Amino acid sequence: MSPDPSTHRRGRVVVVGSANVDLVVDVPRHPGGGETILGGDLRRSPGGKGANQAVAAARAGGADTTFVGALGRDESGELLLASLDGAGVRTDLVGRTAAPTGTALITVSPDGENAIVVAPGANAHVRIGPEQAERIGAADVVLTQLEIPLDVVLAAGAARRPGAVLALNAAPSRDLPDAMWAAFDLLIVNEHEARDLAGEAADAAGAGAPVDPTSPADPAAPTDPVDAAEHLAATLLARVPAVVVTLGGAGCLVAQRGSAPVRLAAPRVDAVDTTGAGDTFCGVLAAALAGGSTLVDAARTASFAGALAVTRPGAQDAVPTADEVATFAH
Ligand code: ADP
Repeated sequence: MSPDPSTHRRGRVVVVGSANVDLVVDVPRHPGGGETILGGDLRRSPGGKGANQAVAAARAGGADTTFVGALGRDESGELLLASLDGAGVRTDLVGRTAAPTGTALITVSPDGENAIVVAPGANAHVRIGPEQAERIGAADVVLTQLEIPLDVVLAAGAARRPGAVLALNAAPSRDLPDAMWAAFDLLIVNEHEARDLAGEAADAAGAGAPVDPTSPADPAAPTDPVDAAEHLAATLLARVPAVVVTLGGAGCLVAQRGSAPVRLAAPRVDAVDTTGAGDTFCGVLAAALAGGSTLVDAARTASFAGALAVTRPGAQDAVPTADEVATFAH
């Protein structure tokens, strides 16, 4: 899994994915159909899974990071560029389009539950041209997600060099074509995404109806979330060589073909906003792998970064620095 296991250096990461401006309003409850309710003040902050992960790889992971994405020629595009630039991400290969910058409309109820609608806008126009392909070809780790068109994700994968790690954060959940399963070295998913994809993987293996060992209908279903994740990861390993399942405050599970799964507990923190924890985790994991860490060590570093991110509000704004992660980890 590690491109260079002997040394820890500043690795090269390319993140190919979405960038959104998050428009967030606190609401007393989520409105029903046809209903209008009054909320709190509007907050506007940089987000989108791809941009969040690029910021995390650069700021918290210390990697030489390029973001390949698309932004509108609008004020939201400038907000995203400023955030990426501020974190030290290379933005020279970000496309600017006539379509508006992707926008996420987010309402947050008092119990912390989010309801989110994403208008993809420019994210539908991410392009892998010759320059993007060249930068991807020089990367140690290429990291993508599913908020951009699948053919772009596949084109990004096709451009990586042999020996580089191709990682997919399979979020948001959707069915994956066979070509996608075949291409990726590493899958990073939360427990919900793991459950969705494990059903799909079991189907493809000819098991008939989706097998979900965590389903309440299954009397053998493990009740412990880490046990459940271990079952799901075992199913997923039939289709991809390595899987990391993130489990929020319960930590994460690292599963690789031919090795026993490794459970990593999350550090204890006071969580104030879990937005972007998964993205911080993915970006830092990619950076650590690119720097020569093993997958288990990379996941350990990523857990510290993810835990710090939940102690702060926002997505990109909550990503800690590499020094903060190192101090927290010792
Ligand atoms: P997602 O946002 O994709 O659902 P998770 O909620 O699983 O992702 O969080 C990703 C990682 O961030 C976790 O594996 C863990 O390392 C860290 N994390 C998330 N929530 C907490 C928490 N409450 N306490 C400590 N660490 C957390």
